[in-house]
Amino acid sequence: MGLAVPLVVAKSTALSAKNGLLIKNRTAFENSRKITTIVFDKTGTLTVGRFEVSKIVSLQKEFNENEIIRLASALEQKSEHPIATGILQKAKDLSITVPETENFNAITGKGVEATVEGEKILVVSPGYLKENNLAIPEGFNANDTETVVFVIVNNELAGYIALSDEIRPEAAEAIKTLKENNIKSILLTGDNNKVAKSVSDVLGMDSFIAEVLPHQKLEKIKDLQSNGEFVAMTGDGVNDAPALAIADVGIAVGSGSDIAAETAGIVLVNSNPKDVVNLILFGKATYRKMIQNLIWATGYNVIALPLAAGVLYKQGILLSPAAGAVLMTVSTVVVAINASFLKVKK
Ligand code: ADP
Ligand code: MG
Repeated sequence: MGLAVPLVVAKSTALSAKNGLLIKNRTAFENSRKITTIVFDKTGTLTVGRFEVSKIVSLQKEFNENEIIRLASALEQKSEHPIATGILQKAKDLSITVPETENFNAITGKGVEATVEGEKILVVSPGYLKENNLAIPEGFNANDTETVVFVIVNNELAGYIALSDEIRPEAAEAIKTLKENNIKSILLTGDNNKVAKSVSDVLGMDSFIAEVLPHQKLEKIKDLQSNGEFVAMTGDGVNDAPALAIADVGIAVGSGSDIAAETAGIVLVNSNPKDVVNLILFGKATYRKMIQNLIWATGYNVIALPLAAGVLYKQGILLSPAAGAVLMTVSTVVVAINASFLKVKK
């Protein structure tokens, strides 16, 4: 005489949950309560993901600030990175006509390259300069919160562009709540060390890993898992898909790429980090309810079944089938009511 324990999560493969989450598979939801570490991609999850050009610096007389933006925007019109959007917006603000490009190529996690008007142009990260033994220019100045890309023309540094993004207002509270629930938060980003440190410090995160290439993201998740952590990963890019797949719970950010959303078990529709926290707390609360309900349901079986079978018949106690049915219904109702009390503090 089994009793169905009402499950809060339906069996469909795709179901909309409250709180801006799309839970694509039930295991991902059920696993969420076991999470011990959450790895956050920076851009678009902890930050707004809207880069604005804050500085344009020319390093050669032939290339003034407008020329730096003109060349960079030629490449960026082919890219979907938030950095590209910021640079293109600047070109628009300055009424610059964006030239055509040929041989465009994205250098994964490092930047972009192409030919513009016969010149070989690159727009790349500080990490790319280091790897190719190109010296960071003297007097280079960008503050710790700025993302910087260098513009290289025919193998010579022509200038750089600094961009700033804002930390999401909800991010600090999300990290704080995670901490209160003994869940570690780690920042994982392809951006430079200084920016990563500054975001991680401002939000009070446990640690940060910067200048990681896309394939290294996967390795970092594996490292955490082999240290016994139950890892959730949030990310938005095509680059993040392998890491989302290997994580115990993969959480794709809604505004990101389709591939990321396909790989992950959960999609953060509003890209709000607080939704991740709510999900975990909801998962934990659901689990507690399930246990309570199991106890209620089992309690019924343990007591009523022997009575119905006539264990206390000699003492004059026998549960009639009709009374048994009533009791069974009562216990179902108790379980259902208990489940309906499930709420998550916001
Ligand atoms: P994340 O997803 O953590 O922001 P990415 O792998 O997308 O990291 O990018 C890492 C770095 O590579 C950026 O911070 C930037 O320096 C450089 N980069 C990536 N794409 C572009 C682009 N379209 N234009 C210029 N630089 C880029
Ligand atoms: Mg990314």
